[in-house]
Amino acid sequence: MRENHSMRFGRCLLLGCALALAGCAAHAPPRTTAEAPPAPSPIALANPVILISIDGYRTDYLQRGLSPNLQALANRGVRAQWMTPSFPSLTFPNHFTLVTGLYPDHHGIVANEMEDPAIQPDHHFTLSNREAVGDERWWDEATPLWVSVQQQGGHAATMFWPGSEAPIHGVRPDHWHPYDMSVSADARVNQVLQWLDLPRMQRPQFITLYFDQVDHQAHEHGPDSKEVDEALRQTDVALGRLIDGLKQRHLFDTVNLVIVADHGMAAVPAGHSIYIDKFFNTRRAHTVMLGAVAGVDANAGETLDAHRLLAPHAHMQCWKKQDIPPRLHYGSNARVPPVVCLAQTGWLITTRTEQAKHEHPQRGEHGYDNADPLMRALFVAEGPAFVSGYIAPPFPNVDVYPLLAHLLRITPEKNDGDYSAIEAMLKPQVR
Ligand code: AMP
Ligand code: ZN
Ligand code: ZN
Repeated sequence: MRENHSMRFGRCLLLGCALALAGCAAHAPPRTTAEAPPAPSPIALANPVILISIDGYRTDYLQRGLSPNLQALANRGVRAQWMTPSFPSLTFPNHFTLVTGLYPDHHGIVANEMEDPAIQPDHHFTLSNREAVGDERWWDEATPLWVSVQQQGGHAATMFWPGSEAPIHGVRPDHWHPYDMSVSADARVNQVLQWLDLPRMQRPQFITLYFDQVDHQAHEHGPDSKEVDEALRQTDVALGRLIDGLKQRHLFDTVNLVIVADHGMAAVPAGHSIYIDKFFNTRRAHTVMLGAVAGVDANAGETLDAHRLLAPHAHMQCWKKQDIPPRLHYGSNARVPPVVCLAQTGWLITTRTEQAKHEHPQRGEHGYDNADPLMRALFVAEGPAFVSGYIAPPFPNVDVYPLLAHLLRITPEKNDGDYSAIEAMLKPQVR
């Protein structure tokens, strides 16, 4: 069951939000002196958790030897052989999965580009559509972790995270920033450290930190480029600054760090383009999304003739949404277009018009079948809750949410994850 605003308010009062929460305090009636002091909520006793995303950090990048700080954390703590992203292996769907424990089909951010006729006047969602990204109607099929943290008496702060710019169920993180690619990795780290310097009762228990250079460089130059290597080095230096900052504050042994990627990356050789608009009548239908995965929908008042799309193709497979293989957990959400096409790894689904918009061809892409080894994502965790030197077997990224909820001592929302699958990462006394 999803909580509405008044339920949230009720639970907040129950947990004694005067203890901690600025967002709740704005709504709460003043406490009378006769009232007993509120009991601390479980989250008030939790060690801070920093959830760090290195966008597009394919798990085998670690073996390049360019991430010494990350490697040291993995040695001291836990590393997964790999983490399987959810389908489609794209940034927004997977970042929202990490903080909700729901498959994209269940949380509603089914792609980086979507259409929803129920959302007006602009029913198009894209990453660069600032209004859509901050419009809670796209996000409110789920409740991200920062909302639950604050509802349950804690504080949260996001140094960028998809969804953090929208007041989901009326709640934004206590501290957040609109996404701005130009903010340096160092500045992002400094901001996180500043949040940790807040007085104890205001200090966020849950903080996100997002790095994007590894993904950017891989799209532009390919995953095997020197530019990706350099982005790996620079991101690791930023991670090192965070660790040094935690040590200076005597917090390194107190904070639990969970470092993840949203997906991996595949090289796209020149000429690996599939022109999907050859396979339907462009006066009657249009593409909703393009790339590793594409969606096609009928134009208003038209019906989609999909028979040529659904025929066999050399480097692409299309399904009616109801026929998508169950292992992909995709197709039940109203926002999934009626026909979904998946490119063979290393191929791009595009149109001539779309391709003409780009000056340089793309050299790397993700979004492919989430079972493809090239889509495997990084998972490293270190801190007082984690065992040392453990290499965990692979797990799906829906399991990160129950892990985080457990670390933060909050009651999780209904989710697709499995806490028991990742419990072995934790020291017995904190399981
Ligand atoms: P993609 O590689 O197409 O799945 O998208 C990744 C890109 O999304 C990143 O390289 C960022 O530039 C962009 N991005 C990440 N977070 C946000 C955000 N909160 N708002 C808008 N764009 C974002
Ligand atoms: Zn990404
Ligand atoms: Zn990307």
